[in-house]
Amino acid sequence: MNQVDYLRISLIDRCNFRCHYCMPEGAELDYILRQELLTREEILTLLQGVFIPLGFKKFRLTGGEPLLRPDLIEIVRGIASLEETEDLALSTNAFLLAPLAQPLYDAGLRRINISLDSLDPDNFARIIGKTGRYHWLKTWEGIQAAYKVGFNPLKLNIVVIPGVNEQEVLDLAALTLDKPWHVRFIEFMPIGNEELFQQRAWIPSAELRQLIRDKWGLVTAEVRGNGPADVFTIPEAQGTLGFISQMSECFCDRCNRMRLSADGWLRPCLLNETGQINLKTSLRNGIELTQIRAQVAEVLALKPEINYKQRESGTLEGSYSRTMSQIGG
Ligand code: SAM
Ligand code: SF4
Repeated sequence: MNQVDYLRISLIDRCNFRCHYCMPEGAELDYILRQELLTREEILTLLQGVFIPLGFKKFRLTGGEPLLRPDLIEIVRGIASLEETEDLALSTNAFLLAPLAQPLYDAGLRRINISLDSLDPDNFARIIGKTGRYHWLKTWEGIQAAYKVGFNPLKLNIVVIPGVNEQEVLDLAALTLDKPWHVRFIEFMPIGNEELFQQRAWIPSAELRQLIRDKWGLVTAEVRGNGPADVFTIPEAQGTLGFISQMSECFCDRCNRMRLSADGWLRPCLLNETGQINLKTSLRNGIELTQIRAQVAEVLALKPEINYKQRESGTLEGSYSRTMSQIGG
């Protein structure tokens, strides 16, 4: 079992997109009330008083859409300036990124992951539940701004879904030929959607790899902070290709992360709600930080057992009362 040292922090559950794979159609979303969101001070208190003393040193800010959080720059500055922070990254859809890229960099952010499921503005609009070309153009502008400012590595995340964007896999992979970008193909997780799961509404990474290998060839590569991705490069390309295969392969053994929801739920496993505790409630009830730390240490100790159960079941049979946008991806 890996050392668990990576915390994904969701800053907000709301989003300006409605990607159908993340917020399933018809899903009734009860958004978290503003006063129920962890504040910047509470996040920093939990990092300094609980997570860092327990060995956490890598943090990712996510959502919902974290760029919707008005105090994002201050949160980034606060976490980046902690001496123990080894790595701080952000996941975003980049729609609002163009004017924020430089202020985020100046606040200490160096790594950014951007969702880009299509290079075709009309297809993109369908995926994110909007109309017109405007959203793709703004997202692309955000990506260009992040590149210009110098985020490194700059990763582009693509959830590949049959009949939706699988026909664009080669075009998306081709982005790495002349840009030092890291394009990552993520197997779609039909979380909580048994029907899609049965239809195998996801494409195994091995198939995508073969498609790309047949066109250009592939060699193994490395990239900083690659987490569960298997990384390759097309010979002579400037960027890399990552494949995240949580459906076709089980990497529970290598899992080094926990998730903190925007309203303070600590979740030891993405695929399972077992073992969750609410740290915001503890903080607001005036529980001592040493005691909260002991509660989190207990959850940490449970994690191998939770991962083991997930591994044994071999399916996404966990409990999903929340969508990905609410869990934080
Ligand atoms: N809004 C930001 C974004 O889109 O990058 C951050 C939050 S989003 C929930 C984080 C990541 O989860 C994104 O890369 C998204 O593609 C991924 N994601 C959401 N639903 C998913 C699903 N059902 N299967 C696989 N990945 C999913
Ligand atoms: Fe929003 Fe990101 Fe989910 Fe798309 S994947 S709906 S951008 S949170």
